[in-house]
Amino acid sequence: MISKVLIANRGEIALRVLRACKELGIATVAVHSTADADAMHVRLADESVCIGPPPSRESYLNIHQIVAACEITGADAVHPGYGFLSENAKFAEILDAHGITFIGPTAEHIRIMGDKITAKQTAQELGIPVVPGSDGEVRPENALEVARKIGFPVLIKATAGGGGRGMKVARSEADLDEAVSTARSEALAAFGNDAVYMEKYLGKPRHIEIQVVGDGMGNAVHLGERDCSLQRRHQKVWEEANSPALNVEQRMKIGQVCADAMKKLKYRGAGTIEFLYENGEFYFIEMNTRLQVEHPITEAITGIDLVHEQIRVASGAGLSVTQEDIVFSGHAIECRINAEDPRTFVPSPGTITHFHAPGGLGVRVDSGAYQGYKIPPYYDSLIGKLIVHGRTRVECMMRLRRVLDEFVIDGIKTTLPLFQDLIGNQDIANGDYDIHWLENYLASKT
Ligand code: ADP
Repeated sequence: MISKVLIANRGEIALRVLRACKELGIATVAVHSTADADAMHVRLADESVCIGPPPSRESYLNIHQIVAACEITGADAVHPGYGFLSENAKFAEILDAHGITFIGPTAEHIRIMGDKITAKQTAQELGIPVVPGSDGEVRPENALEVARKIGFPVLIKATAGGGGRGMKVARSEADLDEAVSTARSEALAAFGNDAVYMEKYLGKPRHIEIQVVGDGMGNAVHLGERDCSLQRRHQKVWEEANSPALNVEQRMKIGQVCADAMKKLKYRGAGTIEFLYENGEFYFIEMNTRLQVEHPITEAITGIDLVHEQIRVASGAGLSVTQEDIVFSGHAIECRINAEDPRTFVPSPGTITHFHAPGGLGVRVDSGAYQGYKIPPYYDSLIGKLIVHGRTRVECMMRLRRVLDEFVIDGIKTTLPLFQDLIGNQDIANGDYDIHWLENYLASKT
């Protein structure tokens, strides 16, 4: 059994993990950089260890310091949250070598899914539908032949990709050479690896992802989907569960495909299988082998605490539910509140002079922010997540409108006004949007 968890993260997700540990009666250790000494997760943890200066590379990404913090405090497990070391196979291996439980999948599964080509090949072998594309890497010499086979437009993507970097569309043969060489040089600069592959470019897809959890012994369940089509620069902004585009049969069918695949893989832990969805078809793009930012909307509609499940399966206790136990109830929406200008999206670090979180039935705020909190400039700008649940999508939207009016964050700029705009929009009300909708909307307003 796990008795003390070191939380190798910061911000709202560190707090989120801490809450789950407390509920399970597990002691907590917070780690923090010097810039985060006043953070809420540090205040609420049973113990805390400073692991370095503000830059992530010297603190939250510093494996040696984190292992040392485990040894000093006697933590027997590490929860990596999302980002930072959460998808670092080497980190999982090093913890294992020290006899510390990594609350996540095996290093092997992290590695397979971290490389987009092996991820796609594995997904296909497991029976998951994938985007038509190249068999593995594409080189400048064979790009034209492959592109002709797939049919234009095509997308060139970095094997090591992440955050939408190293991705280039070629609309026709004339664009191809340049798209391949730009994607390769961007990939080399961003990931130190210039390998690229090719996919059919889908014109107006939605982003729909399936939440899965496995016990590592061949049992796995799905917890339905999240629709994360509302994105800006490949960053999710607003997420909903269920997707306005799917009916029950479609949900259960793709969910079952994913759960069966995870059973075959003997996957352990929480994971998300991401798809593009167009004209009734799902196309796998990647799998994230960790908890996602938007996991609370799934928790809202299923009542299942995903961090509890992660800890259970990491400790060998198995899943607390079978597929038959999982009931989807109502609708949930998450708004990511960033410390950014709501029009230009320029980060706005600084001191929060006034903070009032909304409340009431069906409302959850996951945030490490508080009145007087100084947002450091070194990390991402997510300062909180607002999650609203209702019995129907209409009720959820009505509630969200009310809740957005109640939420007060002063002293810095936030993206709250963007959500106040979106809640009044007819396309949003109709659930009628694809992955390009938000960028087009923002462009039309400037
Ligand atoms: P990353 O890991 O860099 O985020 P993904 O493979 O998850 O890369 O893709 C990120 C985003 O790029 C998707 O959410 C989608 O908006 C777009 N995208 C990816 N593959 C395709 C494709 N084949 N056709 C159209 N858009 C795509």
